[in-house]
Amino acid sequence: MRVIRSVAQMQRLSRRLASDGRKIGLVPTMGYLHEGHLSLVRLAKRHADVVITTIFVNPTQFGPTEDLKRYPRDEKGDIRKIRSAGGEIVFIPTAKEIYPPDFQTWVEVDSLTNSLEGEVRPTHFKGVTTIVAKLFNICRPDIVVFGQKDFQQSVVLAKMTDDLGYPIKFIVGPTVRERDGLALSSRNKYLNARARAEAICLYRALVTAQFMVQAGLTKTRIVEREMRAVISGTAPSAKIDYIAFTDAATLTPAKVIRKGVVCSLAVRLHGVRLIDNLRLA
Ligand code: AMP
Repeated sequence: MRVIRSVAQMQRLSRRLASDGRKIGLVPTMGYLHEGHLSLVRLAKRHADVVITTIFVNPTQFGPTEDLKRYPRDEKGDIRKIRSAGGEIVFIPTAKEIYPPDFQTWVEVDSLTNSLEGEVRPTHFKGVTTIVAKLFNICRPDIVVFGQKDFQQSVVLAKMTDDLGYPIKFIVGPTVRERDGLALSSRNKYLNARARAEAICLYRALVTAQFMVQAGLTKTRIVEREMRAVISGTAPSAKIDYIAFTDAATLTPAKVIRKGVVCSLAVRLHGVRLIDNLRLA
């Protein structure tokens, strides 16, 4: 397995792989890898000859009051895990090289980034789309894999890929969960024992919504009310940033849960912000 830290070296390698006719898969991450990330590496391997996993804690997608400084890191462990998942190349660029002091070019997706995460974290997606466009240009993938866990991110990045005409197949991998349903996340590390026990409230609320829809209750107002009751019953101190019902592709809000509606939510628990989502129909 190769670990590459310089942009020029990564560009040379991706060019050579392409000219050798190898199909390149890309899995962008911020490191501190868990089974969710590794499932994406394995999925990429099914669609590509060689998989590049990137590790970069992207400073521009963090707001000024967010957790950039304390974001968990474990480079050695990450490299070992990528190797065990069959990843061939790990690209770990430096922030200095990605964002030199005179950096001034940004990639932005318009209306899809105004709601949900974009409303609570107004500068977040500008950072995400810019870094992913840069990684596309450096790594020249044929396919890219992102996780359903970050539902809005996958919709925004699929749109960017399409709008900018990147010849890249866009794949979204399913959310990997703990046994009790909590979606794996690098940020779960911040949860103390009490918050960890309460963190099940997100999945519990989503599953409640799914049951209600299966029972024929499809008005989002009624489903949301029940979800809020489940969350406050499971996690009394939880603060709900949003519960939203939207179309899976356009993020248009839905009043009634029909085919293609996804429920997303963001909840703060003892200072830790968690997000999750589930397709309800
Ligand atoms: P991150 O390191 O949080 O930026 O995530 C890197 C990629 O892994 C993104 O495409 C995420 O959506 C994806 N991911 C994060 N958590 C999970 C999970 N539990 N299951 C599947 N994919 C995930």
